[in-house]
Amino acid sequence: MADVERMYIDGEWTLAEGGATFDVVNPADRTVVARVTNGAVPDVQRAVRAAHRAFTDWSVLAPKDRGRFLLGIQELMEERRDELARLVTLENGKPFEEAKKEVQFSLGYFGWFAEEARRMTGEWIPSPQPGKRYWVLRQPVGPVAAVTPWNFPATMVTRKIAPALAAGCTVVLKPASATPLTALAIAKIAEDTGLPRGVFNVLTTNRSGLVGAELLTHPLIRKIGFTGSTDVGKGIMEAAARQIKRLSFELGGNAPFIVFEDADFKAALDGAVAMKFLRVAGQSCICANRIYVQRSIADRFVPAFVDAVKGLKVASGFEPAAQIGPLINEETRAKVHALVEDAVTRGARLVTGGHYLTGERYATGFFYAPAVLLDVTDDMPIAQEEIFGPAAPILVFDTEEEVIRRANATKFGLAAYFYTRDMTRLVRVAERLEYGLVGANDAAGYTHEIPFGGFKESGLGREGGHEGIEEYTEVKSVVVNLG
Ligand code: NAP
Ligand code: MG
Repeated sequence: MADVERMYIDGEWTLAEGGATFDVVNPADRTVVARVTNGAVPDVQRAVRAAHRAFTDWSVLAPKDRGRFLLGIQELMEERRDELARLVTLENGKPFEEAKKEVQFSLGYFGWFAEEARRMTGEWIPSPQPGKRYWVLRQPVGPVAAVTPWNFPATMVTRKIAPALAAGCTVVLKPASATPLTALAIAKIAEDTGLPRGVFNVLTTNRSGLVGAELLTHPLIRKIGFTGSTDVGKGIMEAAARQIKRLSFELGGNAPFIVFEDADFKAALDGAVAMKFLRVAGQSCICANRIYVQRSIADRFVPAFVDAVKGLKVASGFEPAAQIGPLINEETRAKVHALVEDAVTRGARLVTGGHYLTGERYATGFFYAPAVLLDVTDDMPIAQEEIFGPAAPILVFDTEEEVIRRANATKFGLAAYFYTRDMTRLVRVAERLEYGLVGANDAAGYTHEIPFGGFKESGLGREGGHEGIEEYTEVKSVVVNLG
């Protein structure tokens, strides 16, 4: 195995104080992919000081010039796309083709926000007093701490650092300990494009509680961008309250996927399979969690769905035509399986999958057979909790009114999907779903151009769109007295 992977602080590749390391494991076969330096509290202080120092110059650079750096990163990421995708598959497990799509999408945030940087405009506002003038401007909020999860090792990083850098902020990123390699490779790209030292720092650690607390409560950090579980988010919010730190949160979800009787059958079927199983094996915050099928078409839809799921190819991410890779670790696999088993004891019927995969190809990885459960009810934990894995609970409904009520009966509010060919219903349902992202006859997710984020306990603030850059700014009103 190669040397210890160093982290990137203040423009240098450094080892952690104390010299500890942690392993990055390939979830397809449990081999150690890399040994990574394990950041400690003094490293956090170093990284934050670097980001604070770098802020002075970076924040006053012309937006167009900051944009040039971002465009440079985008270009180099595209050049190294397959190399980055290889890292994503190695550390995360998702199929290589899917990883390539992720990297291609992730780099687009640099392009989008390079352009948005130039449109961070203000206002000139008429004053009620003749001798005064008002103007309102946006300024970068300051050094940012970004904390990201493992399910999209590239996108979760770029969706935060691109808008932060565009706005004029500097960043200390703490990537998930399961997937630090992609983040480090992005830092290398930033270095290779000549990004000034200290502007973007990556702190690797698996002591996320201890080191995270130091980073997230550091007085020089003005803003936290966190993507991860709702529970960890709540803890961060409590700690941040002491300093009224600015927060952006992308947290958990529990997406309903509703198939009305008048849906385009094939589109709804393909959409349901894709949104449940073909995004990181169901480990995405916007994955379909509960599939609601109208009773009048359930006899047709359910068997077709089960057939489609039986045909999915579960394999190591580097195998050709792999569609579903391993889950990220044993804990995640065990949690998915526990939800499936619990549903069965409560009366659900498991009609396919729902067990660990064994045998030569699967023996050492965290593979799970894609599951479909029928006769699921809303009160079962599998319908209430975020499954985060390849298990599809199917629920049946009778009326539109009823399904909207059931779909909204959750503390989450990230993504929801529904299929109908009735255009008045489309408008009605889209407006009534309490979710930040609604796919109406669409299961493709979102793009850079629109704001993404959750209602209720799914988050705070928005990433992407025009809103994405505003999250990293403060609004200042200037009152000029002309005397
Ligand atoms: P997680 O356990 O909350 O971890 C997310 C990040 O926070 C990781 O970098 C983790 O480090 C770090 N962390 C964990 N405990 C911490 C603490 N006490 N203080 C500071 N940092 C801490 O979530 P996960 O299991 O990686 O990811 C799955 C969750 O993320 C799901 O709930 C999913 O819905 C959510 N998610 C949401 C979105 C969205 O856009 N809304 C996108 C992707 C994922 P370690 O890796 O070292 O534990
Ligand atoms: Mg976790």
